[in-house]
Amino acid sequence: MFITFEGIEGCGKSTQSRMVRDHLQASGVPVVWTREPGGCELGVRLRAMLLGREGADLTAHAELFLYLADRAQHVAEVIRPALAEGRIVLCDRFTDSTVAYQGYGRGLDLEMLHAVNQVAVNGCLPDLTIILDLPVETGLARARSRNEEQDQSESEGRFEAESLAFHQRIRDGYLALSAVDRTRYAVIPANGSPDQVFSKILPLLSARLGL
Ligand code: C5P
Repeated sequence: MFITFEGIEGCGKSTQSRMVRDHLQASGVPVVWTREPGGCELGVRLRAMLLGREGADLTAHAELFLYLADRAQHVAEVIRPALAEGRIVLCDRFTDSTVAYQGYGRGLDLEMLHAVNQVAVNGCLPDLTIILDLPVETGLARARSRNEEQDQSESEGRFEAESLAFHQRIRDGYLALSAVDRTRYAVIPANGSPDQVFSKILPLLSARLGL
């Protein structure tokens, strides 16, 4: 079972995906938590490049190909082997981030993005995608206060430079994606405390994993 977590900045994907990991581990379920960009060795280097100062000067296509390079390597090295061993894989961002950010956000052609995503994943697609949804203003405020507390290096690139309208397009993009496939996507309102949001994810896990 391959589960991905998606959403705008500050939606709580990382917190929730880790809570799911801890919950599954406590239930004795073999699970791997990973993320994009940066879920493999190559990805760690690409993440630093994409989210650091260098990322700010990339063209939209150059950026796209770096995300795809990360994904292709990540699928081959981490995700596919873990699934083959019967583990549940939880991934913080995956193909839908490309469609939402590079497509809805930066305006690259959506059909082209679906096609290149297929090349990068080579048949390895999520069974379930949890979209954590909340107003852009709330997400950005959360992300800013988190960045102030932590290392700032990742916020020096594109994130801070983008407009509210950009992030709104990303949110709308995720909602548009979810509307065409209610089987794979589950939209979870992400307002509220981590425990409150997690309590909305739990029934999904029970239904899908029989836990
Ligand atoms: O949420 P996380 O810290 O993993 O996201 C890293 C950043 O990478 C996001 O804030 C987003 O701006 C950017 N990103 C992107 N396109 C992708 C994936 C991530 O612009 N396909």
